[in-house]
Amino acid sequence: MDIAVIGSNMVDLITYTDRMPNAGETLEAPEFEIGCGGKGANQAVAAAKLGASVMMVTCVGDDLFADNTLRNLQQAGVDTRYVKKVTGVSSGVAPIFVDSASQNRILIVKGANNHLLPADIERAAPALQACRLMILQLEIPLETVYAAIDFARRHRIAVILNPAPASRDLDIAYACQCDFFMPNETELEILTGMPVDSEENILRAGRTLLAKGLRNLIITLGQRGALWMTGDRVEHVAPLQVKALDTSGAGDAFIGCFAHEYVRHGDVPQAMRQASAYAAYSVTGKGTQRSYPDASQFFDFIT
Ligand code: ATP
Repeated sequence: MDIAVIGSNMVDLITYTDRMPNAGETLEAPEFEIGCGGKGANQAVAAAKLGASVMMVTCVGDDLFADNTLRNLQQAGVDTRYVKKVTGVSSGVAPIFVDSASQNRILIVKGANNHLLPADIERAAPALQACRLMILQLEIPLETVYAAIDFARRHRIAVILNPAPASRDLDIAYACQCDFFMPNETELEILTGMPVDSEENILRAGRTLLAKGLRNLIITLGQRGALWMTGDRVEHVAPLQVKALDTSGAGDAFIGCFAHEYVRHGDVPQAMRQASAYAAYSVTGKGTQRSYPDASQFFDFIT
């Protein structure tokens, strides 16, 4: 196994409506769709679609979404042996309402994702310890994230920590034990409490984090690309110019592709360039996982 993703899965329940209903009002909406999401699952699917061997440690609930999620991960080639089904709890779901002006309102019910526990890391230990890279986000309990980082250190597994959604409760000492810390601009702003409204301010906020002992900080900057910062270097990777249709899940596409590349050759700038191109492809299509290309579609795109 190349990569282990320990994290969340969510089912996006998307209703397209002409306008949002008022309190107490029942409204007919023209369209509804279900999408597979969750930051952990998105990142696992991106890496697996590119050909990495990926396992996922996650929890599904006791409902009709569970089998759908498992099937979706398996179809992408993700190993689901260590997906736990939690009885009496719903799967993670995100009811999303999108109006005719493309404004969205989103509710997140973490459901089973809150039940991913440190004991689940130990349960998956036989497979986890053979992995070369672990990817973590913050849609599961923090104690589980910390247990996974401890496990990875003990077994010399490289770690990418994507601090999303940003939590000021995150113990930065754990982040410093990870090989890569990968926030987007908003997460950087929340984690540091510093403005990120200019390149200079982003660099200043980044240096504040690095001063705490982070090794590699990679900040994704949306249509402005991505930045790699260490104690003694700053490298900017320009984005690919594309016509963006839907940017949701671009950060997860970037991370999944970066992970796949990094385990293959360990060259950070090269992995970032590929990740940037992969994420650019993803913003040209609607949805999250369904906008991620597989290896051959991606190869055609970049050649
Ligand atoms: P999300 O939360 O929607 O998953 P994010 O905010 O975490 O996304 P971004 O920083 O917006 O992540 O984007 C991740 C990467 O995707 C960027 O670093 C860039 O490489 C690529 N990207 C995003 N938007 C565009 C765009 N409009 N054009 C080209 N590339 C883009």
